[in-house]
Amino acid sequence: MNGLTESLPPLSAHEAAVEASRCLFCYDAPCTHACPTHIDIAQFIKKISTGNLTGSARTIFDSNLLGATCARVCPVQELCEGACVLGSEHKPIAIGRLQRHAMDHAYQTGQGLAIAGTPTGFHVAVVGAGPAGLSCAGELAKRGHAVTIYEKRDLGGGLSTYGIIALREPVGVALAEVEMIRNLGVRLQTGVEFGCDISLDTLIGDHSAVFLSLGLGKTPALGIPGEEHLVDGIEFIEQSKTAPAGPPVGREVLVIGAGNTAIDCATIAKRLGAARVTMIYRRTAAEMTAYAHEYAFIQNEGVQLEFLTQPVAVVIEDGRVTGLRCRRMSLVQTGPGRPTPEPIPGSEFIIPADQIVKAIGQEKPPAFNGIETDRGFLRVNDSLETSVAGVYAGGDCIRARGSASTVMAVQDGKRAAAAIDKALTGTRS
Ligand SMILES: Cc1cc2nc3c(=O)[nH]c(=O)nc-3n(C[C@H](O)[C@H](O)[C@H](O)COP(=O)(O)OP(=O)(O)OC[C@H]3O[C@@H](n4cnc5c(N)ncnc54)[C@H](O)[C@@H]3O)c2cc1C
Ligand code: SF4
Repeated sequence: MNGLTESLPPLSAHEAAVEASRCLFCYDAPCTHACPTHIDIAQFIKKISTGNLTGSARTIFDSNLLGATCARVCPVQELCEGACVLGSEHKPIAIGRLQRHAMDHAYQTGQGLAIAGTPTGFHVAVVGAGPAGLSCAGELAKRGHAVTIYEKRDLGGGLSTYGIIALREPVGVALAEVEMIRNLGVRLQTGVEFGCDISLDTLIGDHSAVFLSLGLGKTPALGIPGEEHLVDGIEFIEQSKTAPAGPPVGREVLVIGAGNTAIDCATIAKRLGAARVTMIYRRTAAEMTAYAHEYAFIQNEGVQLEFLTQPVAVVIEDGRVTGLRCRRMSLVQTGPGRPTPEPIPGSEFIIPADQIVKAIGQEKPPAFNGIETDRGFLRVNDSLETSVAGVYAGGDCIRARGSASTVMAVQDGKRAAAAIDKALTGTRS
């Protein structure tokens, strides 16, 4: 492979026991409140401290079927570890790494995994096998419902498989979770594109309920001349995970954007041999959407940042990229919220580059006939039901507000499964 492997080593049994023994097992623990899936963290850590790894894994699976992914990709500094009472005076408990320890045990031994419920006779369709879809499907299977997931790609896992840098999550971890969900009896039909190979009406007609978890779309267009020469950031990351040699990487690489995708692209370019990697952002460090720890990480990697800089055109010579024409911006406070970047007249300049990666997020989900939207995202009510009765949605495709993350998608899947179960059986939740 290309050398991009998981950056944090697993804890040894001894390290895990020592770390677990530091936990105060707080009553009404703030770490659990801070976890969007409300894992009983004190309990799973307690079980690690007594050597009961299978029980620990069970506690995690009770609240979060994708605990192995979340242990690796969750921004724990902002969530559970950020809330740990030990954080103010000492080091917070390494909750993410302890969770990974318990999950690795479950996947290596096959013990502690969830089991399917008694069949109910209901059949639910799930569209998209990313974290939201897998979570919903697994939770429904635990309650005894038959589930078929329709996925357009060849592999399940969504962005956990294709989009999250291997330094945080190797493909194998995501695929093991897909397999675990399939082992609950969930059918995964890959290569089936909703809206193209299968319609909403067909899904509604053939199933008791439908859950839409399509994620978001492609990288949006910048609308600058020469755009066709830019490398798509999400595809760049995908190749770094799935192509043995990784993506072709230039010597002087520019990454347009300053969010988490851009940070991952810059990291990959740097680690795979680029001499210089520069991120281009039209605002300043204060407005970056990436987490603070990721900004610190990228600076440590030796990536440079050009703030207050906006791309104007790709410079092409003899059919090859040689640079990016940019202009300087200034920030103007025109009203409440983030200041607006405005071009400084006559400030154009060229940054030399032989590869330019566009990493400016993802397009909103496609519109589907009859399903109401909110700012381009699928609109749902408190039960995550869309404007079409019996059709639910969750994950990135509904996240009109706030930042999207894996753990929130997992929680959506869980909540939707509970709502669907209640609607179908009338009693449980
Ligand atoms: C580069 C990058 C890095 C990230 N890093 C992190 C991180 O470190 N930590 C974190 O918490 N979050 C991270 N995220 C966000 C996280 O990956 C998402 O919030 C999460 O994957 C959302 O899950 P989802 O199931 O809603 O969507 P997705 O993971 O996008 O899954 C959607 C699935 O639906 C399928 N699909 C789409 N359209 C159709 C269709 N028409 N028919 C059938 N199937 C379809 C897709 O192929 C995909 O498998 C990152 C995102 C990106 C882009
Ligand atoms: S807040 Fe910290 S010390 Fe308290 S239970 Fe959670 S991990 Fe343990």
